[in-house]
Amino acid sequence: MRAKVIAGNWKMNKDFRQTEELIDGLKKSVSFDLQGVSVILCPPFTSLELAARLVKGTPFAIGGQNMYFKDEGAFTGEIAPAMLKSVGCRYVILGHSERRQFFGETDEFINKKVKKALASGLIPIVCVGETLQQREQNITEQIVTAQVRGVLSDVSAQNAEKLILAYEPVWAIGTGRTATPQQAEDVHALIRKLLTELYGGTTAERVIIQYGGSVKADNAADLLWQPNVDGALVGGACLKADSFSAIIRAAVARK
Ligand code: PEP
Repeated sequence: MRAKVIAGNWKMNKDFRQTEELIDGLKKSVSFDLQGVSVILCPPFTSLELAARLVKGTPFAIGGQNMYFKDEGAFTGEIAPAMLKSVGCRYVILGHSERRQFFGETDEFINKKVKKALASGLIPIVCVGETLQQREQNITEQIVTAQVRGVLSDVSAQNAEKLILAYEPVWAIGTGRTATPQQAEDVHALIRKLLTELYGGTTAERVIIQYGGSVKADNAADLLWQPNVDGALVGGACLKADSFSAIIRAAVARK
């Protein structure tokens, strides 16, 4: 059985002091046995080093929210994979819908970052998902298929099983409108089928596919225990220790 992975995407929230407060709160509220559930915190760049220091000796891992696909150079405002690693990151979120929507990131561009992250020893959490308009046009399958193919282009089976995919319907992100467990499962099953076509069944069965989009304490368990849902990428609800720890608990305790 695949392990569950819960990641918190803090987005552009929490300064240095607030980072300390949230991590202190999490350390207190997540005092239960995680039973193999992985928990990843993805604060803004300015808090990564502090967060990595604060989680030493805890089960939490740290991830960046983005990176560039070059090692160094004249790329003002960008962050290299080695820089993330040097402050203690093991993960990096790539291709989040906000990066696609506000910063023009394409599947081709995201694919470069995915390959670079893997080559650098970071585990990418790669986001895909359709807009509301696309869902209403009944083209979710085509959109998600094209995105998965695009972001995984030239990624070997050996590397594919290391990464995490996050299915995040854009209409569910930050809107309070969650996909139903069945809607989530349908797309996750579709992605798993596509991974089987691309890499074979053994690899496809190993890939972690998270769901993201208004996951909260009260809907987490129903989403997380769908057969092809292996965890959650959480935005708003990860900014408070009690709500994030309740989601983690839902991943640990089967109803
Ligand atoms: C996200 O930003 O990845 C996300 C899923 O946000 P929210 O949980 O707030 O919908």
